[in-house]
Amino acid sequence: MALSDSIAKIKGIGPKKIALFQKLSIETMQDALDCYPRDYEDRTYVIPVAAAKEGQKIAVCAVVGTQPVTRRIRKGMEITKFRVFDTSGALWITYYNNRYTAAALQEGQEYLFYGRIQGQGAQRTMISPACEAVLPGMPPPQRVVPVYPLTAGLTQKDLIRVTTAALGEQDAGERDWMPEEIAQEYELLTQTQAVQCIHRPQSLDDVAQARQRIIFEELFLLCCGLARLKERRADEAGIAMREGTPDAFWKLLPFAPTGAQKRAAQEIWNDIRSGKPMNRLVQGDVGSGKTVLAAVLCYLAVQNGYQAAIMAPTEILASQHMESLGPIFAQQGITCAVLSGSVTPKQKRECKEKIASGEIQVVIGTHALIQKDVTFHRLGAVVADEQHRFGVDQRATLHEKGERPHTLVMSATPIPRTLALILYGDLDVSIVDELPPGRTPVETFAVGEKMRQRIYAFIDKQIAEGGQVYVVCPLVEDGELPLKSAEEHGAALQKILPHRRIGVLHGKMRPAEKDVVMNAFAAGELDILVATTVIEVGVNVPNACLMVIEDADRFGLSQLHQLRGRVGRGKRKSYCVCFGADKGEQAKQRLKILCQTNDGFEIARADLAQRGPGDFFGKRQHGLPMLKMADIAGDLALMQSAKEEAEKLLSDDPTLQEHPALRERVERMFRNDHGEIFN
Ligand code: ADP
Ligand code: MG
Repeated sequence: MALSDSIAKIKGIGPKKIALFQKLSIETMQDALDCYPRDYEDRTYVIPVAAAKEGQKIAVCAVVGTQPVTRRIRKGMEITKFRVFDTSGALWITYYNNRYTAAALQEGQEYLFYGRIQGQGAQRTMISPACEAVLPGMPPPQRVVPVYPLTAGLTQKDLIRVTTAALGEQDAGERDWMPEEIAQEYELLTQTQAVQCIHRPQSLDDVAQARQRIIFEELFLLCCGLARLKERRADEAGIAMREGTPDAFWKLLPFAPTGAQKRAAQEIWNDIRSGKPMNRLVQGDVGSGKTVLAAVLCYLAVQNGYQAAIMAPTEILASQHMESLGPIFAQQGITCAVLSGSVTPKQKRECKEKIASGEIQVVIGTHALIQKDVTFHRLGAVVADEQHRFGVDQRATLHEKGERPHTLVMSATPIPRTLALILYGDLDVSIVDELPPGRTPVETFAVGEKMRQRIYAFIDKQIAEGGQVYVVCPLVEDGELPLKSAEEHGAALQKILPHRRIGVLHGKMRPAEKDVVMNAFAAGELDILVATTVIEVGVNVPNACLMVIEDADRFGLSQLHQLRGRVGRGKRKSYCVCFGADKGEQAKQRLKILCQTNDGFEIARADLAQRGPGDFFGKRQHGLPMLKMADIAGDLALMQSAKEEAEKLLSDDPTLQEHPALRERVERMFRNDHGEIFN
């Protein structure tokens, strides 16, 4: 057998199980090794029976003292009970509906039992423990036990069986693909050791060491992959766009560009004239005016006889871009259209035809733009707005719609520069670190329930003065009912403020329904918009001057900052009120940061420091290949090292020709649903 073999070759794994394993993405032996335990039970904490206390999860080494007795306590419920003892005392053990486990135990034999203790004194009972025989002359039973992710129909035993078989196929003599100098410098286990330790640790220290290696490995591969993507693109020929200037475009705007916008535009312009394809990330705080930069690129592309596309994360945002950019482009006779999911099939078809013929020069849309049936006449530039929702692979797909079009991605959430350079290692980065003039910072308050009536009065007052109000509710997930859903909260608010016009917007509505509500709010036909975070990105209603965020403690700081960027866009003095300050000290401290600063980069740093990156980016929102263990920025120092090492290695061996095993691993990591990214 080899690691590339199907798990079907393992004894006892039949077609039914194979289908179940597939749900865990396990098809081959290698896949089994790649499926790491999600947790470990530490059974090294073996204590005398007498010391076991209620509520503890512990291990005891004890002898079965009485024959297990099984009783039916009610229909469908059997209880098996027996007593065990060691030199210090005795304990009850019970199993529910599991007489077979108990029946296999032998009276007088010593076992390691691991489980939770219930009851006190003579009634102390260990409930449904895991157990293993302690045999004289044999090594002690496995004390640190892996707990694998499961799916219905599979048990831990099944996972143990396939991983054991796969571990047996590991070749301990095989050379590690990780360059030796690096392994030494960071005191890393070899790959084989790490895999062994992550699946079958002898101690939790083994787990920690294995993790260290695996994390470094992931980050290193990631950095190598991103650097290779960048490297490879640098060799490609791109479209040299030499016509037109940003200055000509600035004349079309109703305002003067900020210094930061000019700088970023200059960088874009340099890129697209260079004859190499541009791959640039624009980072900037909410409201810093990134859209204008998308427009500069589209404008220049059109001046050079090419089409341009702007990809937005939501339909609402796509139509807002259309509204703000359409008139600007129209001044120059540039045709611009939205390819949206909410139009009739006929309109859609017509739109696609015009894109294919080149009649439409600038196309704005959502993910729909990257679907197969959209073809361009001559696509020269692509903008992905609010990048974190698009993956590396989606960018690649879009890229293929033209002949290496210039690509600009605009990030929604500011992230610290060092982190950006790593995460977007395949891109060049421009930073827009200046807000347009005349913005007054949004005054932010963190409040508790006690303030609720006063906040309602404040809402009413803002509307009386001609302003509009957003009320944001977190997404309600199953089983989390105490949170307010947008719909319920909207209805409740309507009772409290019966004379105000209230609209509700949430993710489950159809795009056309959303548009109706959003447009009504934008047109001033609604006073209050109660919404989930669907309004997070991009929508622009300058008359909105107050945002009230319910259960604000449930959001990340960066997300809250992003949300409040929806107000303070017009002349009115603007406010943001966050409920949740009464939900504990931690919530209070976090919300305080938001009240103290309006700098998105600073907030991002605080957010990262407090919550760690998993939450910061959301699940897979960073758009990178799936990392199983590296907690991206939580390991920032390690990541920095990995990046440096990757760069060092690639500068000597840019195509990884001399490191075939490493190269294979990088390609494996970047392989995705659409196939190979490297090909
Ligand atoms: P974001 O960076 O969050 O995407 P936008 O591009 O939506 O920001 O810009 C926010 C608002 O600022 C828009 O209404 C836009 O018209 C305006 N704006 C952008 N640049 C300038 C500028 N240089 N001067 C004045 N207003 C500007
Ligand atoms: Mg934007």
